Amino acid sequence: MDLSLEPSEEQIRREREKARELRKSQWWKNRIAQGVCHYCGAEAPPKELTLDHIVPISRGGKSTRGNCVPSCKECNSRKQSLLPMEWEEFLDKLQSEQ
Ligand SMILES: [Zn+2]
Repeated sequence: MDLSLEPSEEQIRREREKARELRKSQWWKNRIAQGVCHYCGAEAPPKELTLDHIVPISRGGKSTRGNCVPSCKECNSRKQSLLPMEWEEFLDKLQSEQ
């Protein structure tokens, strides 16, 4: 995937739409029923898990099953407040702690 390609507004709109559909799918319901955050591994009630794009749509990420994961509130807000680089460092740190 070429991350240097900026997605057009139209692409972003389409991927957001797909994400909405994915959220309603049985596949997603099964994912959140497991009640585990993809990033930190914390257990969370399904209703507190949000659909997160590993590669954000704004950076060319797609709303595919491979790119959409359940994220707890904490990771979600942390991811939004950090630069992509800082977020990767945070993930590396999590993995080395496990
Ligand atoms: Zn988490």
